[in-house]
Amino acid sequence: MTVVDRSSVWPYDENGEPGPFVYQRYGHPAGAEAERLLSELEGGSALVFGSGTAAITACAFALCGPGTTVALAEGAYYGTGVTLRELERWGLEVVEYDQTGPPPGTADVVWIESPSNPLLTVPNWDAVRAHPGRVVCDATAATPVFLHALDEGADVVLHSGTKYLSGHSNALIGALVTRDESLATRLLELRTRLGLTAAPDAAAALALGLPTLELRVRRQSETAAELARRLADHPAVLRVRYAGFGGLLSFDVADEAARSVETSTTAILNATSLGGVHSSMESRYRWEGDRIPRGLIRLSVGLEDVDELWADLEQALARAS
Ligand code: PLP
Repeated sequence: MTVVDRSSVWPYDENGEPGPFVYQRYGHPAGAEAERLLSELEGGSALVFGSGTAAITACAFALCGPGTTVALAEGAYYGTGVTLRELERWGLEVVEYDQTGPPPGTADVVWIESPSNPLLTVPNWDAVRAHPGRVVCDATAATPVFLHALDEGADVVLHSGTKYLSGHSNALIGALVTRDESLATRLLELRTRLGLTAAPDAAAALALGLPTLELRVRRQSETAAELARRLADHPAVLRVRYAGFGGLLSFDVADEAARSVETSTTAILNATSLGGVHSSMESRYRWEGDRIPRGLIRLSVGLEDVDELWADLEQALARAS
């Protein structure tokens, strides 16, 4: 799609009947194209939303109500907990659990993340499948290149498409994918009613990014695996967290060294977010506080040459020694 249709309204036909698109909040051509591509990749019905957070909101509204208990993976994207806890005023209960083990038996909804951002744990799928609750899997960091969560047993897959799916740090967008048609209908209804629709330009950026997803993510993953190995041998690095796949990793340095390390790279941007073609890293303490180690630095590996990135990391880490 080269020309983005940004219309907010489309006329009815000569008989006064609506065509495929009526009013932008209900859906639009760029969104439909992005959804077609993502449905193929994930093997389910995809819906795009105004952000990953909008997708989280729609999912929570669809699966939860007063009295619902959500078991949320400990160390999952901190904003997921923030959004879900907003709903505690409406009777939702959020309990965190270690997703490498079984979810609490009393939970109605199990909300996992693979791998978790920024602690990089992966869920125990056998335990998740054995649980009777509905299962939401945030697969933002794995992407469909490394995980088909619907095949593993998730009822719905969630993506911040802002990250790897669009891939160029130029779109705020989210997505949900499910094979449960009644859930898909409900999610579409909620998207329209709550006004959670993605912007056409963001959907067009997603549609442009998806065909190169596999190429990008495989290369990012190879580079990340190599950097994880090299970081583990560096004397200033206390711990490396890497799931073994994907372009995201974290490493810990001494608490007092984190700020100087994160601000000393040149090829690697000192910026938040992840999944773009340019590498970026940041200390997560500024956002997440004591729920993560103070010296933890999250690195999102881009498409640059591995030796260039390593040289950049080495000179930054020299300030921590
Ligand atoms: N899920 C994960 C794993 C994320 O990392 C993020 C954002 O960082 C989100 C969801 C929220 O996405 P968005 O920023 O597009 O609202």
